[in-house]
Amino acid sequence: MIYLFVFVGGAIIGSFLNVVIYRVPRGLSIIYPSSRCPYCKTPIKPIYNIPLLGWLILKGKCKECSHPIPIRYPIIELIGGVLAVLVYWRSGELTIFTLIIFAIFATLLALSVIDLDYKAVPDSLNLLALTLSFFSSPAVIDNFINALLLVGGVSLLRFYTSFLVGRETLGEGDIIVAGTMGGLLGVKLALVAVVVGAGLALLPSLYHRLIKEEMELPFIPFLALGTFLVWLFQPQFLQLWSRLYG
Ligand SMILES: [Zn+2]
Repeated sequence: MIYLFVFVGGAIIGSFLNVVIYRVPRGLSIIYPSSRCPYCKTPIKPIYNIPLLGWLILKGKCKECSHPIPIRYPIIELIGGVLAVLVYWRSGELTIFTLIIFAIFATLLALSVIDLDYKAVPDSLNLLALTLSFFSSPAVIDNFINALLLVGGVSLLRFYTSFLVGRETLGEGDIIVAGTMGGLLGVKLALVAVVVGAGLALLPSLYHRLIKEEMELPFIPFLALGTFLVWLFQPQFLQLWSRLYG
């Protein structure tokens, strides 16, 4: 039963993330005005604003102008709900830290979608996630130091790889995300998460390069997914680490 509440809460946050994803890159306020159809500007009635159900009731179309509402909206609400359930399940209790960790992953989700859309992310959201990562556990100073180590390490990686390849390999946005990973996961697991993220990006990047002949693949979605997987399965990943390095 509690999981149902957690899921609904997460889906409501997912619905808010849709607003954030649409408005923040356009420089619009996320509070005012209330949600409206991006095409005919008609305000959306509260009943249709219910996560997931609203989209289903409307059959994916605006009631006024019948313009299709992208399936992405309910998908992000669904991910928000599932994310909340998994964060709660892994934490085993509801504390301020559980909420902060959920807020970090929710922000990373918004950043991932924005990165896919624009191949760039707003510093406001990115720095928000980084700042939250300092407070993701009671060890604030340690979290801060771990974030700095990851920012420094990934900056170095960027210098080396950019020099070798002869062009920018990582964006500034990626470096701030790396800091968030350090603050949240600690140095060991953050490094594992970078490797997992890079591994996940490998095939799509080859596809992008060879088939679509485009150079730039958004990297933040892969870093975010790597971070979430490593956080979710941290005992397993720590075990793997100690087996590899003792
Ligand atoms: Zn409309």
